[in-house]
Amino acid sequence: MSVSYVGRFAPSPTGPLHAGSLVAALASWLDARAHGGQWRVRIEDVDTPRCVPGADALILDQLARCGLHPDGDVMWQSRRGAAYEAALNRLVDAGLAYGCACTRTDIARANAALGRLKPRHGELTYPGTCRPEQGGLQGRPARAWRLRVPDADDPHGHIAWTDRRLGAQHQVLHDAVGDFVIRRADGLWAYQLAVVVDDAEQGITHVVRGEDLADNTPRQIWLQRCLGAPTPAYLHTPLVCGDNGEKLSKQNGAQALDLRDPVAAVQQAAAVLGVNASGATLGELLAGAVAAWPWRRT
Ligand SMILES: [Zn+2]
Repeated sequence: MSVSYVGRFAPSPTGPLHAGSLVAALASWLDARAHGGQWRVRIEDVDTPRCVPGADALILDQLARCGLHPDGDVMWQSRRGAAYEAALNRLVDAGLAYGCACTRTDIARANAALGRLKPRHGELTYPGTCRPEQGGLQGRPARAWRLRVPDADDPHGHIAWTDRRLGAQHQVLHDAVGDFVIRRADGLWAYQLAVVVDDAEQGITHVVRGEDLADNTPRQIWLQRCLGAPTPAYLHTPLVCGDNGEKLSKQNGAQALDLRDPVAAVQQAAAVLGVNASGATLGELLAGAVAAWPWRRT
């Protein structure tokens, strides 16, 4: 098996896999197999209040019943606190991260004072209130920790990347998100930090995931650069939408996958990805889908 390709599927154990998450799993598996690479599985259970006990085992069982078997050990983010702590300490020591005492109300007020009233994707851009050079915490306790992004006119903060499907992408971090949270006010590790530290630890070379996560990529690339970690290749796949036109998710009531007929379930997921494959057995179907995978040469 080639080590020049290491991909991964990283489900959150907030419930069993549904049709949309099987598409994501299959896309990452097909891309890994089409490149003769490894496929790792990581349980993203860093947001512990949202996790459902037992959902991780259920997901791994569902993947196995679909013929999707991980290479190497499965990683659980809930066991990775020491690695995230070490990364945060490195960033703080390098002057790249700092403590922030602001509440949401503080951030809203500071934005309003700057004439910025509209949140972007429901999130307020952080105006840098607690940056050390702007006065720092001034005696208030740090609630969260933030990663510094370059000023708007600094080209280092203009993140350009090429998605294998979406093509050339560009984001100015300062304007789009500002200094972003890497450790949350509730003490939990932020998704962005956990993903980047774990991708580096697992040697991930290729990230294949749903298009809803494309917007996170520039923050993750910046974090990789701050930590001296390599940037993987990215492929963001189309999302599966429900009858209401919204992304199929556990939050909007997607049903658990019906695996009474795994061949039919995998065939349906492949069709969403534009892969028309068939087979009497899972093995035949998956082999056909690997051969038909449209992203094998990208
Ligand atoms: Zn602050």
